[in-house]
Amino acid sequence: MADLILKPGKERAVKARHPWIFAQSVAKVVGRVENGGTVRVCAHDGTPLARAGISFTSGIRARIWRFDPDQPVDHAFFRRQVAQAVAWRARYPTLAGQSGVRLVHGEADGLPGVIVDRYGSVAVLQITFAGAERWRDVIVEALVRACPDLCAVYERSDSEVRQREGLAPRVGLLWGTLPETVSIDEYGVRFAVDIAGGHKTGFYLDQRENRRLVQQLASGLRVLNTFCYTGGFSLHALKGGAQEVWSVDSSAPALTWLKKNLALNAALPTDRSRVLEADVFSGLREWLQAGEQFDLVILDPPKFAPSAAHVPKAKRAYRDINLFGMRLVRPGGYLMTYSCSGGIGVEEFQALIATCAAENRRSGQIVARLSAGADHPIGLGAPEGEYLKGLLVRLD
Ligand code: SAH
Repeated sequence: MADLILKPGKERAVKARHPWIFAQSVAKVVGRVENGGTVRVCAHDGTPLARAGISFTSGIRARIWRFDPDQPVDHAFFRRQVAQAVAWRARYPTLAGQSGVRLVHGEADGLPGVIVDRYGSVAVLQITFAGAERWRDVIVEALVRACPDLCAVYERSDSEVRQREGLAPRVGLLWGTLPETVSIDEYGVRFAVDIAGGHKTGFYLDQRENRRLVQQLASGLRVLNTFCYTGGFSLHALKGGAQEVWSVDSSAPALTWLKKNLALNAALPTDRSRVLEADVFSGLREWLQAGEQFDLVILDPPKFAPSAAHVPKAKRAYRDINLFGMRLVRPGGYLMTYSCSGGIGVEEFQALIATCAAENRRSGQIVARLSAGADHPIGLGAPEGEYLKGLLVRLD
């Protein structure tokens, strides 16, 4: 096996159990290894530290599979990791019995670059790391073994980040037979999931518990759900007895699926739903001018800052929607606001929201700090993996 030798001092991150080794931390690679192959990670003095997959084109030069340098990276390893990820979720209170659940959350489940989302009897796999790419067949086999009731495994490895790994997009059926439609039940609401064409693997499973909170909160409220995608928060608001729900997105295909979801939930009062194809930035200003007011405004925008370089521009965008979004919240109402940008931390996001309120001359209270559900855990050694942060703010 080839050895990846770290620069002096760079063993600290490995010892702290951070799974990434950046290109600038690497002194040299000794021996032959192909892209995606397994290397032994060694401190500058040669002390073996871990085993990792190597990626020659990525700034993240290697991702650690095992923090014990003597343990093999083989079929048994992948089988065990997948089985473990599936098993604890099956027993965890908020996850047991969910038909839509993330089974494998990459690094946090000890499987860098591997995402598996389960929608009913279909599992959707996404691989975003050259090291994991080589183990696709083994991962699929492990998944089928761990979840005996699956009928299909579908691949959605078409994320842009694959380019950095030198990997081409791969989409299609990997195992089994696809049912005609894929859908999930989430706290009494049914959602059709577009596994072939939807965002990510088809659905934003990370917001499950927050959608439930909206259902619990919505009774009698007038709700504005911006960046609504296929209607996640909107349907839960209707289920919770909202008086009226506006759903706004600029994507026509997303809204087509939203309408499909409304039709799937025939018992809901869909006459209380209004669907608008619009740009949120201009829409907020327009509705303000028209004198609209809501009891709950939800802002769940796409990732404005995919990396640190985008942060200043992203902060302006967050500021804009929150400043105007708040003005649409009637006194005593709620703003539920999110950022899924890795480059902006919880404290920073909270400070930004506080500034917007002050500029609007409003006082407010943070009623809840929100995050992704338990099926999107955060690795202790890599806390920056906490990408989704939300605040439920009550505004005076
Ligand atoms: N809240 C959703 C997920 C939101 S994803 C859920 O729980 O399922 C972000 C959405 O924002 C996408 O559907 C995208 O089409 C939409 N979007 C991005 N930019 C937008 C803009 N400027 N105006 C309106 N919608 C936008």
